[in-house]
Amino acid sequence: MSTSYIEISESAIENNLHFIRNLIGENVVFSSVVKGNAYGHGIDTYCPLAYKYGVRHFSVSDAGEASAVLDALPKKDTTIVIMGMIDNQQLEWAIENDIEFYVFEQDRLQAAINAAQKLGKPACIHIEVETGMNRTGFEQRDLKTLFQLLKNNYTHLKIKGLCTHLAGAESIANYKRITEQQKRFKRIIHFFQNNEWKVPLIHMASSAATIRYPRTRYNLVRVGILQYGFFPTEEIMVHYLTKQKSYQNPLKRIVSWKTRVMDVKSVKPGNFIGYGTSFFTNKTTHVAIIPVGYSSGFSRSLSNTGKVLIRGKRLDVIGTVNMNMMAVDITNVTEVEKGDEVVLIGNQEEQEITVSSFSDFSQTVNYELLTRLPRNIPRITIP
Ligand SMILES: *Cc1c(COP(=O)(O)O)cnc(C)c1O
Repeated sequence: MSTSYIEISESAIENNLHFIRNLIGENVVFSSVVKGNAYGHGIDTYCPLAYKYGVRHFSVSDAGEASAVLDALPKKDTTIVIMGMIDNQQLEWAIENDIEFYVFEQDRLQAAINAAQKLGKPACIHIEVETGMNRTGFEQRDLKTLFQLLKNNYTHLKIKGLCTHLAGAESIANYKRITEQQKRFKRIIHFFQNNEWKVPLIHMASSAATIRYPRTRYNLVRVGILQYGFFPTEEIMVHYLTKQKSYQNPLKRIVSWKTRVMDVKSVKPGNFIGYGTSFFTNKTTHVAIIPVGYSSGFSRSLSNTGKVLIRGKRLDVIGTVNMNMMAVDITNVTEVEKGDEVVLIGNQEEQEITVSSFSDFSQTVNYELLTRLPRNIPRITIP
């Protein structure tokens, strides 16, 4: 039971997945990135819908998420890849369940070999190389040793991919760094080829690079944020629209967050609303009490600044956001009643609360706000 609910729009998912498929064409594998509980949308809700519209390849960041995807989808024709950390016990679980994973340094690779040996079943790996993000990945100088290790343990490994990650393709300010990374990755690919290593999938592009640097697509793209109806940054959106000579955003937000009015009351002039003294009534003020607070992901920093929609009107949050409640000024919409729908993110009549307006506007804010949507709020699929 929950005091609010999240709606997931199936038609918006279909729209966004079509957009991505048209963008990359038929010959590039689309790996749907569903880390962070599918960017807050819910792995259990999102993955079956993505599957319904043709997605068969999923990328997650850890074994817990891989297990959630595994539970949500038919096993026989889906591929799941763990891009982040996987510890020694989880390695065996992953190999047993045909989950692929990145190896990014020798100890992880050795642990994978040991686990595969023990199980008598090869580990399916993606070799991650360092090209300049300086996070995870084999350094170029370690590749010779890597090849030796791969060669000596050939029967315990299936090399599925060779990959790297770009350090900020969503901003042109990083142009130099991104092009350097592309050059390094190319050298490494050649180095693999010259040593006669055949790697089926080569990948480096996330959403931003898929749009901004088409050459980075190779034969697989790892796309997260676009699926959920957002460009990684405004800059990437402007770049895309300018190239298309269009003003129409081709993506649709799939998430809405709603609740209902729990109580209404009127407060005489000269009083404070809620805890402390942050909101003072200088006239008779009608308020609606909303059963959502910071424990449900409505940030306390939205005290006296947040907006919600009720009866198609954009209304102010007044006073401090409490742990489980907040107050909204309905002085100009006195017809508001207990039980009325309240939109925290989404549309109501002509109005919209966007995910980014939900906090101080900053670059890449959608990622963080979406993943903060609590897991225990029920996700409901709507057409
Ligand atoms: C999160 C992530 C992606 C997807 O990024 P988007 O900007 O959401 O498309 C791709 N690759 C890796 C390694 C990631 O961690």
